[in-house]
Amino acid sequence: MAELNPFKIAQAQLDEAAKHLKLDKGTHEMLRWPMRELHVTIPVKMDDGSTRVFKGFRVQYNDARGPTKGGIRWHPDETIDTVRALAAWMTWKTAVVDIPYGGSKGGIVCNPKEMSEGEKERLARGYIRAIGKFISPKIDIPAPDVYTTPQIMLWMMDEYSNITGYNTPGMITGKPVIAGGSLGRGDATARGGMYTLREAAKIRGIDLSKATVAIQGYGNAGQFAHQLIEELFGSKVVAISDSRGGIYNGNGLDFKDSLKVKVDTGTVTNIKGDKISNEELLELKVDILVPAALENVLTEDNAGNVKAEISVELANGPTTPEADLILQEKGVYVIPDFLANAGGVTVSYFEWVQNETGYYWPIERVHKELDEHMTDAFNAVHKMREEKGVHNRLAAYLVAVKRVVDVMKLRGWV
Ligand code: NAD
Repeated sequence: MAELNPFKIAQAQLDEAAKHLKLDKGTHEMLRWPMRELHVTIPVKMDDGSTRVFKGFRVQYNDARGPTKGGIRWHPDETIDTVRALAAWMTWKTAVVDIPYGGSKGGIVCNPKEMSEGEKERLARGYIRAIGKFISPKIDIPAPDVYTTPQIMLWMMDEYSNITGYNTPGMITGKPVIAGGSLGRGDATARGGMYTLREAAKIRGIDLSKATVAIQGYGNAGQFAHQLIEELFGSKVVAISDSRGGIYNGNGLDFKDSLKVKVDTGTVTNIKGDKISNEELLELKVDILVPAALENVLTEDNAGNVKAEISVELANGPTTPEADLILQEKGVYVIPDFLANAGGVTVSYFEWVQNETGYYWPIERVHKELDEHMTDAFNAVHKMREEKGVHNRLAAYLVAVKRVVDVMKLRGWV
């Protein structure tokens, strides 16, 4: 792709939606930029007695629909433009699943793999001291993202509670279940994606109990997708992969056995079956494809070879804009990332509701309400696709942007 600055890409995607929605200039311009952003400098005492200074960001993109919501990434290559783009995408993701939030994102430029637990704790607490006045359960609610964990969320909650003077669990989500987290957060991303798959299969007349599936990536999203697709639908997963490569077995790969090999040996490539590459996995003759690893894996070079009927994008950004058009032309039904993987933020919303009311839900309620949100979101996007004759990603944008715009107008902003 010519343009790889993620924020430029996010702006271009919005521009396309703005054209279809015929947004006036002021409204469009308002949505092209974050409402607020904070750049912070965080000193941390390292274990060797030295002080290291870290750079951090928090971007609050748009809060028309409610307090902003978005994760915190710890990554050596973090940039303000990545955080801006992710904050924009959170705005559209919360709108498409219709939870009462805006979008935000945070980041710290650091390499947590080279830091001790103590150093990570001091960095987490330092970040909250730096941005504490800028966030709250009613303003902006962080969550985990790349290289941040439930433990890090709890350190942040503890530091914030020291500032307020009382326990404030609703200031952050993704906490451990015993300390204010929600049941069902672990598999929420994959589970939400499975609910949208069930709806797409109905539309395409696919019997999921007879369907074959290929899953790229075997981390949080990919593993739970394997488990749930077996458990909920009885589909046959015939191929899985991780960064070391993939494995194909036409008789089906049992979830428990596959997970055991992955845990015991560190890779799925030791599972019995034919070794395949990650590229080959994407082009297999299967009914369902689940990209659950990296961005930009389906491009103009290979999209024409995809044989699956439905692609459920649990990964963020697996399909380039050029590939989107090719898949649309081929009739592949793509469930776009910010719809397919919105189950995580939806259960984060449930966590916040439970924290704010002090009443905790049984798992059955989490699953039922997640299903309702995902099914409604899927139906809204599908209806928009039919009405406007556009591909699903653009349809999802149109649904989300329109929801934000309608509130901005009602509030008198534009
Ligand atoms: P993870 O780190 O747990 O797992 C990533 C997996 O991808 C690993 O199995 C890794 O081996 C594999 N991988 C790495 N490089 C690869 C390559 N070149 N080819 C094939 N596989 C490769 O991450 P995750 O949480 O499962 O996230 C996966 C994707 O889902 C990301 O795009 C992420 O943004 C998205 N996502 C995850 C969540 C969530 O709740 N976990 C929510 C929304 C979106």
